[in-house]
Amino acid sequence: MFKEKLRTQILGGCLQDYKNHLSGLYKGFYITLDGLQGQYLVKISINPANDADMATLISFLDNHKLNQKKLINAVTGSHSISLTIKMPSLGKNIPDTINSIVDPVIDYLISYTFTSGCSECGSTMDQIDCFEINGGHYFLCNTCKDKIHASLQTSQQEIRSKKSSLVAGLVGAFLGSLIGAALWILIYKLGYIAGIAGAVTAICAMKGYTILGGHLDKKGVIGSVIIMFIAIFFANKMSWSWDAYSALKDYGWTFTDVYKELGYILEETDLVGSYYGELVIGYILTIACSARSIINAFRQSTGSYSIKKVN
Ligand SMILES: [Zn+2]
Repeated sequence: MFKEKLRTQILGGCLQDYKNHLSGLYKGFYITLDGLQGQYLVKISINPANDADMATLISFLDNHKLNQKKLINAVTGSHSISLTIKMPSLGKNIPDTINSIVDPVIDYLISYTFTSGCSECGSTMDQIDCFEINGGHYFLCNTCKDKIHASLQTSQQEIRSKKSSLVAGLVGAFLGSLIGAALWILIYKLGYIAGIAGAVTAICAMKGYTILGGHLDKKGVIGSVIIMFIAIFFANKMSWSWDAYSALKDYGWTFTDVYKELGYILEETDLVGSYYGELVIGYILTIACSARSIINAFRQSTGSYSIKKVN
């Protein structure tokens, strides 16, 4: 995740680099560091000596947040602290930024005799390992890991047993896709083929399916994606018809005539190739822009999860 030179400067080089995150033990505290969308998420496992400690810790963190501009958020759980840090624009400032935010917190925890263990139950007696759960990283004891695993399994069964109403959902997806299609035509008028409008079409179609179909299940995602492709086909045809109409209206053509006869017009003007070429480019851009949301929606619709030990 970091160049070795940077890694050794972050928290005394105590955290190991596992390509997608850092984790390890720093001054007796279990710490994980994930990077996502311009932010670092640092999680520290803590175990307070008593409840009063937590109240003073929260006010300390609030104060810390005021003094550290790059500290976007500081949240406490019963046995963990999550610090959200804005990534510095220059790579070489990364260690300074992270250290200047995390070190005072660790010093505070040490001076108030906090200990560190499982980030769920606080246990310091059991073996603690780092686990990757749905892409996030957590130090856990075996009991808590098993509990989380069981609850993920239960929620997967619940999600899979929920069924949506297909027809109502598809109507919703159709209505949603109209928003994206309108945006497509608008951007096309400005002279661009818009992958982003394609992605909006996919997102709005899935949202529409969820609202009217009651739940976005696997068939809902597939149905929404098919509707997205159809909506883009018609949006592209509308856009081209609009262009042709502008050229032909003075010769007595109506928009409906142009739309119906577009195939003939394209043949006569030798534009069949460019028409389908643009459609294909539009589809490719749409897939590029929306793949992530579609894959995420698909994963959520099946309730799939991943849990594995980091080593
Ligand atoms: Zn535990």
